[in-house]
Amino acid sequence: MKRGELTRLLVLGCSATMCGQASGPAASSAEVHAVYQAAYAMYLDLHQNPELSSHEVQTATKLAGRLRSLGYDVTEHVGGTGMVALMKNGAGPTVMLRTELDALPVEEKTGLAYASRVRAKDDAGRDVPVMHACGHDLHMASIVGTAAIMAGSRDTWHGTLLLVGQPAEETISGARAMLADGFLKRFPKPNVAVALHVGNLEPAGMVGITPGIYNTNADSLRVTIYGKGGHGSAPQTAIDPIVIAARTILAWQTIVSREVKPREMAVITVGYIQAGTKNNIIPDHAELGLTVRTNDAEVRKQVLAAITRIAKAESEAGNAPREPLIEHYEFTDAVYNDPALAERERKVLEAALGKENVKIEEPITPSEDFSFFTQQGIPGFYFSLGGADPEKFAQAKAAGTLLPSNHSPLFAPDVDPALHTGIAAEVAVLRNLLSNP
Ligand SMILES: [Zn+2]
Ligand SMILES: [Zn+2]
Repeated sequence: MKRGELTRLLVLGCSATMCGQASGPAASSAEVHAVYQAAYAMYLDLHQNPELSSHEVQTATKLAGRLRSLGYDVTEHVGGTGMVALMKNGAGPTVMLRTELDALPVEEKTGLAYASRVRAKDDAGRDVPVMHACGHDLHMASIVGTAAIMAGSRDTWHGTLLLVGQPAEETISGARAMLADGFLKRFPKPNVAVALHVGNLEPAGMVGITPGIYNTNADSLRVTIYGKGGHGSAPQTAIDPIVIAARTILAWQTIVSREVKPREMAVITVGYIQAGTKNNIIPDHAELGLTVRTNDAEVRKQVLAAITRIAKAESEAGNAPREPLIEHYEFTDAVYNDPALAERERKVLEAALGKENVKIEEPITPSEDFSFFTQQGIPGFYFSLGGADPEKFAQAKAAGTLLPSNHSPLFAPDVDPALHTGIAAEVAVLRNLLSNP
């Protein structure tokens, strides 16, 4: 769906009063205070018991149990380990709020008393450390607090609240799995979808809004380059796939610098090379793993075509016995924030958190599969939640350095202010979108 269509759909899809209202009643600090301890306890539990993508069994059960006890109608096992919690409260729009459930194969090195010590088997059977290094535990804790406030204040909103616990965000496969499992048919179709993400780009207490494109298209490629194995001392008898791979990687670096228009955004990263077993053996193949990020659909096509062209040409130049195998095994589109919706929620969040605590931010390069929901004709509002300790943030800024980002073993959001703000922001946005006619 094109952007113009999305905007039109938003305008047509909501009632005049809903769209006309600039702000809804913000959660009072007493309301947030009343639910905070339970939300924080959930955070600690989830942080110490993280689960890998598509294996969020205990996580989903905990979330489902809590939401059920608050009066939500909960369905589990949607798209694998996904969970949907519904609360119907009279006539009105249906608004979806989504959290991710999964953690990452990262060894926590924050030194926090509640640091994760969990290890698990990944899908390849390897024993890996597990950590909520992306902050999804904070998103879940926030939704638990928000759900409690919304359930306890049904006179402040009307319509249907749909809380979604999405599995496997880190493998950009969970949203697709939920949709494939009938998400839109089994539950009321949302008029709007909302999500937030914590990060260290802003101090805790603040939120950031990016109207339009929020992040990037992401494409994961696996490229296998073929050669001919042989003795390391006799290269003339072999065709060395490592040398072909090296030339291919360097040639790929000219795509962004020489082929893409200078003002367009594109990133090509080769994140791994795997080839060979021993120094004196020339292997018969080399495998490369790439991530490709773009904003524009045409640039995306151009870059992916150039990667293929160069890989094939370098293999041919190296006299490879066969063409490289190029597998496009994961992808997601950029998250698009409907500008009208973003502008409306900017005012709502300014009213709830103070004007100085709401920033307009530039698009970022990490990716998200929230776009699978918004591509179903559901306008989306995805905003960022400041997670950095305000003091450390100021020190880092003064020193010209950056705090550890999401996915770092040192990623440690300042939970108290970030969680308070997350709950207050979600309640304000939901009450606005589900506002009383
Ligand atoms: Zn994340
Ligand atoms: Zn992540």
